[in-house]
Amino acid sequence: MTQNQWTIINIATICSCLTLLVLAVGAAIFFVVRASQKRGATPVKPPQQAVQPPPPVSRICTSCGTVNAPTNNFCEQCGAPLAK
Ligand SMILES: [Zn+2]
Repeated sequence: MTQNQWTIINIATICSCLTLLVLAVGAAIFFVVRASQKRGATPVKPPQQAVQPPPPVSRICTSCGTVNAPTNNFCEQCGAPLAK
């Protein structure tokens, strides 16, 4: 065999291995998603979706962005008056 033929065989082997890997990973993700949808109660979520935005009652400082308690009239961080 020549070097060229070996290269073609190697590429074909790598491609078929990658295809099997992608299929296996895809099937695994599919079954995990289906299993979590069936349970319903505890869906698997990425952490960034679990972060809730601050509740609307909080008073966010327009000067420094600090989230203050709803009862605060002035920013805890920089003392700027908080708008209503
Ligand atoms: Zn502030």
